[in-house]
Amino acid sequence: MLVPRAPNSLLAALPGREYRRLLAGLEPVTLTFGDVLYEPGETIRHVYFPGTSLVSLLTLADGHLALEVGLIGRDGVVGIPLMLGHDVSAVRALVQGTGTAMRMAAAQFLKAFRRSPPLQRELYRYTHTLMAQISQTAACNRFHVVETRLARWLLMTHDRVKSDRFRLTHEFLGHMLGVRRVGVTKAAQALQERKLISYSRGDITVLDRAGLEAAACACYEVVKDMHDGAPAGPATTGMPVIAAA
Ligand SMILES: [Zn+2]
Repeated sequence: MLVPRAPNSLLAALPGREYRRLLAGLEPVTLTFGDVLYEPGETIRHVYFPGTSLVSLLTLADGHLALEVGLIGRDGVVGIPLMLGHDVSAVRALVQGTGTAMRMAAAQFLKAFRRSPPLQRELYRYTHTLMAQISQTAACNRFHVVETRLARWLLMTHDRVKSDRFRLTHEFLGHMLGVRRVGVTKAAQALQERKLISYSRGDITVLDRAGLEAAACACYEVVKDMHDGAPAGPATTGMPVIAAA
């Protein structure tokens, strides 16, 4: 039987047999910009493996001020608390980019997780990377100026959507950076004047990737190196049918 390639790199890293076993419980879905997958305090009913979609993790302060602390795309999974023994989300998981994902019901996921060491390995590896991303973001928000942080988030988005054009509204950028609209406008204009991006009504085009990397704070490289440096595990010996798209 021909098994379609997994667009999610975490699934793609699983040995073919493990991936095929998981497929029965995976349901292809479209995640739409603005959809809320979890709210803080809500029970997690599904885990999501993004393909072309992009999901933001937002921490709320005072019940309404939202700040993005994590960004998950084809590199990861939404629903990590489940495998750590918690079925309640601490953060809001908000769809930032419309696209594909595979989802699995929580109970079924836990069953699969318990019986599959390769899946455990991939999920633990990813959890570590996500924790590094979240803690680096805490330091970044405190120490780095808005323009360099904006460049960093644009690079992180660019890496995950694998397209030079994507959509990020002012409101979203405000959440990403924890600043008001005027701060977003100023930072975006500064990057635009340097001809690194073009930005019009929420449509962003990356014009100069290398320039954007030079404009970003060092936090971008720190997290990326951790990501890229992770051991490949059994993926290199996996079946070709599950190679990353
Ligand atoms: Zn930074």
